[in-house]
Amino acid sequence: MKNGKIIILSGPSGSGKTTISKYLLSKNFNIRLSISCTTRKIRKYEKNGKDYYFISNKDFFYKIKTYQFLEWEEVYKNLYYGTLKSEISKIWQSKKHILFDIDVKGGINIKKIYPNNSISIFIFVSNKELKKRLINRKSENLNKIDIRLNKAKKENKFSHLFDYILFNKNLKKSKKIVTNLISKFIHKSRSIDLNQ
Ligand code: 5GP
Repeated sequence: MKNGKIIILSGPSGSGKTTISKYLLSKNFNIRLSISCTTRKIRKYEKNGKDYYFISNKDFFYKIKTYQFLEWEEVYKNLYYGTLKSEISKIWQSKKHILFDIDVKGGINIKKIYPNNSISIFIFVSNKELKKRLINRKSENLNKIDIRLNKAKKENKFSHLFDYILFNKNLKKSKKIVTNLISKFIHKSRSIDLNQ
């Protein structure tokens, strides 16, 4: 395998993209999650180096200055997230495909960088459902939930820039749909049979 393929799962915070990503990773697709850097605080259930590389603002800005990011963003005020170039090469060197669980702007940027060997899927949920999920997740206070809901409204307007939009009403069904899409995408060959 030369460079592997790229799977981009985007959507507002709380849309279910991380749950779907984890499900995909549990399938035998030879894919690995691109672990991002972030300056936000680690949550109780997270592990450094597994969910994110949790780094200081100083480290983050140094990485920006030294061009170590493929893309980066201030996703929320004073909270920075970025994809390391080294992460991509590391995954491809290990002959695996890359899975991005990334916000909407980041997803659009990655698609622009790798238009041909990527599939981008926008995970969509209604605002009412989103609010319910963010409250149930208990990782943000109400003020932060409001910020995330407002961001989601804006992000939904960019869904048409993705290859697919998935209306995530039923998680079990969504997992199945994404699995089928990814299976087809991974196994699709770009080679031409010259004997035909
Ligand atoms: P959370 O704080 O809930 O883990 O993530 C907040 C948002 O940042 C999510 O939508 C997540 O997908 C996004 N995100 C995570 N890593 C990156 C990254 O490397 N780049 C960008 N642009 N967004 C990211």
